[in-house]
Amino acid sequence: MKIAFHTLGCKVNQYETEALKNNLSAKGYEIATDEGAIDIYIINTCTVTSLADRKSRQYIRRAKKLNPHSVIAVTGCYAQVSPEEAAGIEGVDIVVGNEDKMNIPEQLEKFFADKPVQNGSKSQDAGNALLDASKLNESVMSEYELLQNADEYFEIGIISEVGSRTRAFIKVQDGCDRFCSYCIIPYARGKLQSRPLESIVSEARNLIDKGFKEIVLTGINTALYGVESSFSDDIESVIKALNSLAGDFRIRLSSLEPTVIDASYIKKLFKYEKLCHHIHLSLQSGSDKILKSMNRRYSMDEYMQIIKVLTEFDPEYGISTDIIVGFPEETNEDFEESLKITENIDFCKVHVFKYSNRKGTTASTMRGQIDGTEKSKRSAVLITAGDTSAVRFFEKNLNKEKKVLIEEFVEDLGCYTGYTDNYIKAYIHKTHLQSEHFNCNHANNGTANSNHITGNRSSSDNIDKYVNEFVNVRLTEIFEDGMLAEPIEFETKEEKKMSNCIFCKIVNKEIPANVMYEDDKVLCFHDITPKAPVHVLLIPKKHIVSMDDVRPEDQELMGYMIVKIKEIAETLDLENGYRVVNNCKKDGGQTVDHLHFHILGKRQMIWPPG
Ligand code: 5GP
Ligand code: ZN
Repeated sequence: MKIAFHTLGCKVNQYETEALKNNLSAKGYEIATDEGAIDIYIINTCTVTSLADRKSRQYIRRAKKLNPHSVIAVTGCYAQVSPEEAAGIEGVDIVVGNEDKMNIPEQLEKFFADKPVQNGSKSQDAGNALLDASKLNESVMSEYELLQNADEYFEIGIISEVGSRTRAFIKVQDGCDRFCSYCIIPYARGKLQSRPLESIVSEARNLIDKGFKEIVLTGINTALYGVESSFSDDIESVIKALNSLAGDFRIRLSSLEPTVIDASYIKKLFKYEKLCHHIHLSLQSGSDKILKSMNRRYSMDEYMQIIKVLTEFDPEYGISTDIIVGFPEETNEDFEESLKITENIDFCKVHVFKYSNRKGTTASTMRGQIDGTEKSKRSAVLITAGDTSAVRFFEKNLNKEKKVLIEEFVEDLGCYTGYTDNYIKAYIHKTHLQSEHFNCNHANNGTANSNHITGNRSSSDNIDKYVNEFVNVRLTEIFEDGMLAEPIEFETKEEKKMSNCIFCKIVNKEIPANVMYEDDKVLCFHDITPKAPVHVLLIPKKHIVSMDDVRPEDQELMGYMIVKIKEIAETLDLENGYRVVNNCKKDGGQTVDHLHFHILGKRQMIWPPG
């Protein structure tokens, strides 16, 4: 049977759709890639605004119109919050809440087993749909507790290749218990469920091995990762664990809420070099009064402190935000505060939302609801201010060097596009990339990994060879939605360090040394000022600064070096014994910042040393 999917709303929904697709295709269903004869539609809905509800309903109707005999299953947040409404739409056969979303394959089996189907759908009449769980509609609004019974994070499968070949999403948690007064999500998504760290790491490992170069951590409220009392990890633990994985990839956070993540917490994230300099920090309003009424639990002052810390660390740190206009009792002065902040901060993107009244939330019954025309007016003003803010951000980035992950080639433009780590859409002209002078680091030696991603394309497929590669660029011109980027070759911080390192120079034969052993991983040479009759140094060819900089991925190399020490000692006739020394950093007496083991022998050595 052929199944078509349609997903509305957030990344978590998209992620869950992908997981469902994998699950169902493993069960033998055919995943539709066109709009042809579809047997089953799975519509993963959203309810974040009334517009989302409307779109969800529209799509259901559209599917039924295109394939009148298809079976229609509706899931997601709209199905969770308004199950009866969803079931009442003509042609809907199955309604499944978020909690049971991953059981849709079983629901389908049950559906077909219960009533033998003739000609597809069984429920041509409106209101006939199977409501998966009778508790669904009860749980809405008043009985949030009913959603609390799913106590374990459900594993939804390992693959999450959403849309792109370059960027993969990993869902790290579900649910939100913050109850912002305007927000329906806690009712739709239920209680907090963080995913065990090992499970996240193994999914990340898998995706990196498949060749994905950007891992986006996503969730309903990512900042709440691990706040459950049963967890000892938090979102920093996730970043730390992923940062230490081997491979050429970067990590992006989809969104962090300023309530949970304050200025001092943010600072702790700066040391993870794989983490992109981009953060989505929802502001929602520039007025303390409105923030309070929204139950946002932070003040403008606290928000500004985070911005200060970020921009002091990196003036071009990409900061995007969400702002709601027309919240109940938002006066002109309150709105002006939101406008002022948008004019003062150089946001890389401002998403403006008109307040949408969601039944069942605290704000829905507040006095002072703002009328639609006024909301539209404020929204238009703020959108313009947001665009201007982005232009200022682009201006700050003019002539700056950035690293772009190329995502696609856009035929019409003759350009490759991708994002810088601080989230600027970069346009790279194909002639610039393909010029003889520029040689993209990895593009010419397609690894097994990238072949996996590109499938069976031939290696002569020139256009494709830069996709999913990192390219260093200079940003040279501002466009409406991004910047022109010219590829350059510049030294990364790591490369700069290496070009100043004497031991790297010895490795590269730029300065001479009395080498006694060499292979592709290590080099062994005589110390220039020997402290014993035999004094050699064993170093890794890879530039590792000190023992303190050894990472989990170096484990094999370290073991290899220890074995080499023994072999070298044998060739140096040190059968009476020898000493192996590693001096680590300043207090350890390290003078050359490239990891090395001293091997000393041919005299008796006293202990302890001086
Ligand atoms: P550390 O004090 O960092 O543990 O050891 C550095 C060692 O490298 C010292 O014993 C020093 O004599 C040696 N060294 C420093 N520069 C050079 C050089 O250019 N060539 C060689 N062969 N050894 C060097
Ligand atoms: Zn070095």
